Amino acid sequence: MPTVKNFDPKVISLLQEKIKRIQTNKGAIYLVGPIKLPVNLQGETVEFKWYCWLNCNEVTEDFERIVAKLSAANLAELQQSSVLVHGDFSNADHALIRFHSICHTGDIFGSKRCDCGYQLKQSMQHIAEHGNGALFYLANHEGRGIGLFSKALAYILQENGFDTVDANLQLGFVDDSRDYSDAIKVLQTLRTKPVTLITNNPRKLDALRKAGLDVEDRVQLWGDVSEYNEKYLKTKIERSGHLNEGEDCCNND
Ligand SMILES: [Zn+2]
Repeated sequence: MPTVKNFDPKVISLLQEKIKRIQTNKGAIYLVGPIKLPVNLQGETVEFKWYCWLNCNEVTEDFERIVAKLSAANLAELQQSSVLVHGDFSNADHALIRFHSICHTGDIFGSKRCDCGYQLKQSMQHIAEHGNGALFYLANHEGRGIGLFSKALAYILQENGFDTVDANLQLGFVDDSRDYSDAIKVLQTLRTKPVTLITNNPRKLDALRKAGLDVEDRVQLWGDVSEYNEKYLKTKIERSGHLNEGEDCCNND
């Protein structure tokens, strides 16, 4: 049991207003937000509301206990997921949703080996233009759930002739080990009406529907094909069931 420090009651009450507990099978998700986050989208400042969440075995309404654990929990070693919400997300008739898997190389460095960075920015742009929606940034999905270090190993294999699916299999992983259950729970807390999913991946649509997500429509996101990711994108279409219906083909799905 961690030692509970003596927090300033004002600090705790300020935080308490912004923390919501969501019950799960294994414990609880603590969702914090909304927090104002103005974002630069192609030179325009767009207002988003940001929420972050943490999984915890302990289920309590005494958030002081949760706050007390944070300094010892070494959270920077385990990244948390978060969601950017735009517009009147809970009430809008049609809302756009993107479940974006973290991609350190694509999102941060702008790597052209995949199309994640492009997909991320395009999704945010679509949501802003549509007027409402949410972009879930899923931090435990690096390399389709294999982690950053393993992804580096998989890239070495890919440079030596293995395709993206085989590289993961050779390292002992399944092709795709991503889990969306926490993100769906968070979404259901923020909105109960149906959503329109931004994805090129019909398997993702199926998985989310099976997990209880109320999806009314799907919009696709294609673009940013280059000599560096052509093979990767082709593999996604041929081996991972992605549709190639657009003019170009690509996505981080
Ligand atoms: Zn990527």
